[in-house]
Amino acid sequence: MHYKKGEAVTQGSLFPVSLDELIPADHSVRVIAAYVEHLSLSTLGFTKAVTKTTGRPPYDPSDLLKLYLYGYLQRIRSSRRLEAECQRNVEVMWLLGRLTPDFKTIAEFRRLNRTAFVATCREFVQFCRRAQLITGELVAIDGSKFQAAASHRQYVTPAKLAKQQAVLEQQIHRYLTVLDQQDQTEKTESINADAVRAALHALQDQQRQNLAQQANLREQNLTQLIKTEPDARMMRTAAGKQVSYNVQTAVDATHHLIVHHEVTQACSDNQQLLPVALATKAVLEQDTLRVAADAGYSNGEQFAVCEREQIEAYVPANRAVNNQGKQPLFDRREFHYEPATDSFRCPNGKALQRKQMNKGAIIYAAQESDCRSCPLKSQCTEASRRYLNIHAHEDAFARMQVRLQQRPEMMRIRRATVEHPFGNLKQWIFGNGRFLLWGLAGAETEMALGCMAYNLKRAMNVLGVQKMMALLV
Ligand code: SF4
Repeated sequence: MHYKKGEAVTQGSLFPVSLDELIPADHSVRVIAAYVEHLSLSTLGFTKAVTKTTGRPPYDPSDLLKLYLYGYLQRIRSSRRLEAECQRNVEVMWLLGRLTPDFKTIAEFRRLNRTAFVATCREFVQFCRRAQLITGELVAIDGSKFQAAASHRQYVTPAKLAKQQAVLEQQIHRYLTVLDQQDQTEKTESINADAVRAALHALQDQQRQNLAQQANLREQNLTQLIKTEPDARMMRTAAGKQVSYNVQTAVDATHHLIVHHEVTQACSDNQQLLPVALATKAVLEQDTLRVAADAGYSNGEQFAVCEREQIEAYVPANRAVNNQGKQPLFDRREFHYEPATDSFRCPNGKALQRKQMNKGAIIYAAQESDCRSCPLKSQCTEASRRYLNIHAHEDAFARMQVRLQQRPEMMRIRRATVEHPFGNLKQWIFGNGRFLLWGLAGAETEMALGCMAYNLKRAMNVLGVQKMMALLV
């Protein structure tokens, strides 16, 4: 029995194979090349898109953009790894005409072109709109946490810094005492005074840094700081607390393409519905928009503004349930509103009168005498009387509830729409890894490239390479 044998590495060829013959006609690199070639890079704001007449010729930004799009599609994000691919990967050789830029050139191109990448990402959305891949009929909004380029050990809070400051002060005091005692007794052999002074200076440096960080937190009114990545925040994720950015996406329900994305520092999604919906409406250039989001986006004030802005939102209300006692207590739905008297009627038939406004909520309270003698009190409240906190935008919550009851399928469509892009972005584009670039600007750069790669791949899957090529030429 023999093994299959490959060609000898020294084998010559009468008609050498060209690079183009090695790339199949329906390969994704051909779409990347065609797409980048049809862009106006100077309009999109890429550096060196217009060349100078003097000096050494730079790399063409279209070649470096092709390289990054290819890299993000293949889960290769590091500039050093992209440099290596230029030297060994036939697909990249075809894409760049065998150019081999070094990692510094590759990294610098990404660093300098953040806004141009965001503009290119938007341009591809417009291409998808023209190709009718994005209809704008229904958009699902969702957020996901992406780990920042920083360790959780860099996380500090005012309390943590104050504690560290107290420890540093104690240590500095101890070293100063040792030096004082040595000066007084003039004994030099027991301790190494130079080493003590060096340690003291190091502690004083740490103390200065600590005080500067505390002042920084106070000035910016922050409750936390990541020392090496000040833009990032410690956020709750499925894997526990992580130093992250909260990435918001608006995904078109027709083919699950990302219409709009934002990298935010918000630890929760509670304030994101309105800004993301407004930005999506602007990208789609529509007067009206229909959006669906999960209960994390529940915000009565924003529900009301969305209605005014002609945004038809489908978001389940996230209401606190009155279950603080040992057994579940009467929920607020058990109380009936009476508009004539602006009061609520409790399950025992007593009135809860309007008392005051507190942090955007109206408080209604029952009479203490009614509750004291009430046979249902153990099911209603553990306090001396029952209070109801009614949101100032209760009407908007009620209208939202009606909309959701009329279109119960919205939550199923929402789930099916947003899970697809985030799953792909995290696993296939980012390889379940964290951002490589520092700062909010770095995260925005990487996310623009990631979303562009996702949309490109998705469009190719929906249309097929040949049809994409036909639309691009
Ligand atoms: S405890 Fe007070 S509010 Fe509750 S059911 Fe009885 S009377 Fe009504």
